Amino acid sequence: MSRAAFNFSPGPAVMPEPVLRQAAEELLDWRGTGMSVMEMSHRGPAFMSIYEQAVADLRDLLAIPDDYAVLFMQGGALAQNPLVPLNLLGEGGAADYLITGQWSLKSAKEAARYGAIRVVADAAQGGRGYTSVPPQATWQLSRDARYLHLCANETIDGVELEGPPAQGTAPHEVPLDLPVVADMSSNIVSRPIDVRRYGLIYGGAQKNIGPAGLTFVIVRKDLLGRAHPLTPSAFNYSVVAESGSMYNTPPTYAIYLAGLVFQWLKAQGGVAGIAAVNATKAKLLYDAIDASELYENRVDPPWRSRMNVPFFLRDERLNECFLEEAKAAELLQLKGHRVVGGMRASIYNAMPLEGVQALVEYMQDFERRRA
Ligand SMILES: *Cc1c(COP(=O)(O)O)cnc(C)c1O
Repeated sequence: MSRAAFNFSPGPAVMPEPVLRQAAEELLDWRGTGMSVMEMSHRGPAFMSIYEQAVADLRDLLAIPDDYAVLFMQGGALAQNPLVPLNLLGEGGAADYLITGQWSLKSAKEAARYGAIRVVADAAQGGRGYTSVPPQATWQLSRDARYLHLCANETIDGVELEGPPAQGTAPHEVPLDLPVVADMSSNIVSRPIDVRRYGLIYGGAQKNIGPAGLTFVIVRKDLLGRAHPLTPSAFNYSVVAESGSMYNTPPTYAIYLAGLVFQWLKAQGGVAGIAAVNATKAKLLYDAIDASELYENRVDPPWRSRMNVPFFLRDERLNECFLEEAKAAELLQLKGHRVVGGMRASIYNAMPLEGVQALVEYMQDFERRRA
């Protein structure tokens, strides 16, 4: 039996069905231990093997170099907004923030309570909301910044960066010794990345990795040991790294599920394999929107997210009806974020191509019936 509905939730989001099946099978008794994973000591050999495999698989999937630590924490991406400056700025210190949407805006505002935060560019200054990214040549980098923060994929606005900023010694380039810090909550493991181009990568797991409650932090080890003295120990990257994410009890069941997702991803051809499917899914949906008279996506094509596709009905009076009929067609959670309005289809790794095909067919049928 498989589920009939396709779930386009922005997060917590759809999980790969084989993962849920395996978790269900193993729920009561994990591989003859007589215990559910959620009943095990986090320091015992059974859970340690689950944890170590999950970290090793994530390292494999993203080709994370040895001089980077992989931390599993709690608190979600929003908890990282104060923790990044607390851990990287120490006492005093400045940091640069690129604003490309709601999430990076939130990051900058929260960080400003902990250090001197400079906005290098704000995409909304163009007057069209968050629909593109200002050219790097216009960014105002500050000379004394300890890091540059950006959001790799703006989940609410549907704006995604193609990759890290250009780094080098030319005037408009990001200096090589300025660590780039990226919120990758909603596009981690959706496409290959060069981890070396970042000092720190973080995010909540509930979009592309697993259930809510797990936060991943991938940090270059030379950035450890700089924390403000008042940084809580459980959220001090050095403490978490030294204890192998076991300073306090980690979210064990969420780590187990993330591990199953990583194994599923490897079976899909890894991050490169899933990236090809993601590109196909996104193209199918954007092409359908662009070809229609009814639907519209307002993000400049080079910056359109492959994970989150916000769109509007040109006749907004049809919104309720669109959502009701979608639900009846078993296409779930398509309502847009309240800040942006309209609709949003989140098409993360675990959304199969058939789900996007079903959505496109529904949208075309809905439009035909209104013509
Ligand atoms: C969902 C999301 C967040 C917020 O994550 P929480 O886990 O709820 O704190 C932050 N940034 C991005 C890019 C997101 O997609």
